[in-house]
Amino acid sequence: MKTALVTGAAGFLGSHLCDRLIAEGFRVIGMDNLLTGSLENIEHLFPLERFSFYRHDVSTFVHVPGDLDYILHFASPASPIDYLEMPIQTLKVGALGTHNLLGLAKAKNARILVASTSEVYGDPLVHPQPENYWGNVNPIGPRGVYDEAKRFMEAITMAYHNYHGVDTRIVRIFNTYGPRMRVNDGRALPAFFSQALRGEGITVFGDGSQTRSFCYVDDEIDGLFRLLMSDYHLPVNIGNPAEVTIREIAEEVLQLVGNPNAYITYKPLPEDDPKVRQPDISLARELLGWEPKVKRSEGLKYTLEYFRKAVRVDEMTD
Ligand code: UDP
Repeated sequence: MKTALVTGAAGFLGSHLCDRLIAEGFRVIGMDNLLTGSLENIEHLFPLERFSFYRHDVSTFVHVPGDLDYILHFASPASPIDYLEMPIQTLKVGALGTHNLLGLAKAKNARILVASTSEVYGDPLVHPQPENYWGNVNPIGPRGVYDEAKRFMEAITMAYHNYHGVDTRIVRIFNTYGPRMRVNDGRALPAFFSQALRGEGITVFGDGSQTRSFCYVDDEIDGLFRLLMSDYHLPVNIGNPAEVTIREIAEEVLQLVGNPNAYITYKPLPEDDPKVRQPDISLARELLGWEPKVKRSEGLKYTLEYFRKAVRVDEMTD
């Protein structure tokens, strides 16, 4: 039986990854400091003998007993409001955390997949973004703490691959959505769903003409798993190329939720907010035989089911 360590295991993507690895027959060790993650996302795994959990901050030395075959480094604040509030932790987990986990991968002779991001492209001047685009990042802007930590992550991962021969994988994750996102996480879809369900104003930033390309979580996880099992060590974009303006997706959520009290309201655009974003997934298609399958209309329905419950629970615990 193969053993995988997942950092950020109690988070949105981390918890879905744990589920997939358990379903694939792995033994899974989850690790999380619960800064932005929640044990509720993995409580269903606790009864399983093949699952164990350590509450630990991977920015400090990481010790795991026994053999390890795979490491998946998914720990990080990932929402712009989170990394604005926690700039130092964001830099540390992307930089020091990645260093610690690469050291662990080297010591255990394990394969490591690190979670990079479309933010390495910054406010892109090439559209859609292929992996060979170097990006347009402001290192000292509010997003710099996340973007530069992830760029450092890619650099040190390549260095461990080239210098130490560590078996590495780098995924660049584009906007992903689905069950287990935090109600108050501040990202577009969690904000829109909870505002629409509560009958409040749906806060579109700027004039809403900026674009994103949203991938349903099951598709994203499938792409990540395929990349982990591949033998390709350079960065690969995993995301859904179906591009939409923020105003359009706000309207889609408004319609789907159908709450007559909800309405769209406009707020100032945050600094350095990328104007466009769309993954070029030619490489993933060719290399992994992967492309997203879940249409946005379906994905949004599954996500609404989750947010109906999550918003109720959030109101009860307020
Ligand atoms: N956004 C918005 N209203 C919100 C939250 C986000 O209009 O309440 C916009 C944000 O300005 C950005 C896009 O939606 O243009 C996606 O933002 P998100 O925070 O989800 O992630 P990003 O892709 O910017 O990292």
